[in-house]
Amino acid sequence: MSVPIRPLDDPDARAEAARILRAGGLVAFATETVYGLGADATDETAVAKIFAAKGRPRFNPLISHVPDVETAFALGQATEAARAVAQAFWPGPLTLVLRRAEGCPIAWLTSAGLETVAIRVPGKPDARALLAEVGRPIAAPSANRSGRVSPTNAAHVAAEGFDGLDVILDGGACTVGLESTVLDVSGETPRLLRPGSVTREQIEALVGPIELAGHGDAITAPGMLASHYAPAAPVRLNATELRAGEVGLDFAGHLGAEADLSPTGDPVEAAANLFALLRALDRQGVAAIAVAQIPEAGLGAAINDRLRRAAAPRG
Ligand code: AMP
Ligand code: MG
Repeated sequence: MSVPIRPLDDPDARAEAARILRAGGLVAFATETVYGLGADATDETAVAKIFAAKGRPRFNPLISHVPDVETAFALGQATEAARAVAQAFWPGPLTLVLRRAEGCPIAWLTSAGLETVAIRVPGKPDARALLAEVGRPIAAPSANRSGRVSPTNAAHVAAEGFDGLDVILDGGACTVGLESTVLDVSGETPRLLRPGSVTREQIEALVGPIELAGHGDAITAPGMLASHYAPAAPVRLNATELRAGEVGLDFAGHLGAEADLSPTGDPVEAAANLFALLRALDRQGVAAIAVAQIPEAGLGAAINDRLRRAAAPRG
């Protein structure tokens, strides 16, 4: 079955797509940068479907798209630099990494467990109209399978043959055609995490000198965070039984533990629960976490990638 393609500039098509998004479905849509594969950013299961459809081998944090600056700063904490660049470049091809605001509803899977969120107000008016109609932040990485180039028209998206994609909203060819610039304004000095069409020089003209990622820390390549969420307690993988002092993080009931990523053994459900359950165990102040074995198939690979990092010796 091929996915329906409808015009993004048709209010009825947007209304139907908004209903699909609010119900936890997947909608690909045009922005000025590239086509995004969108889901409700506040719904852990909907976001897990994005990773499953893309076949991503790891969970990297996703950008949440919102219709206006006010909504953006309700989700993430505005710093002085954030306000300055938002005023100059939003709506537009710039993503800001902000500290989560109090009560921010963005799912933990969307931010890959981080205390920061990446937010963008897209420049394409019809994309903003869709976002306003949904009334929720929409997580949307590029609408391509993992390892393939980003799509810049609706036919590219259709050719990916995504499982679980409900509709493509065709807004013609992308005018920018490059992923957004990603700027971390959550700390003292702004840091450029990904170059894009909003340039370092344009940003520095507003906020003064900024740092570049890859100079000694956090990011080693676009989309690859060296810093990531890890629970405070030590983590033991592939556990077949619970040892003294351990609390289980179970899969398919193997350990008989209370916290189970997916009692039915469904990797999409497990992905949806991963960061929220790790955080819940952390809040309980458990001494050690034993994780049941999780099959590598489908999203299992990305779940195991993240759990291996959580279990790695802390530096
Ligand atoms: P994409 O959604 O595929 O356009 O990629 C999102 C980009 O934003 C990746 O390079 C991510 O690493 C980056 N990103 C998203 N959220 C965060 C965050 N909270 N902290 C740092 N980088 C982020
Ligand atoms: Mg991409």
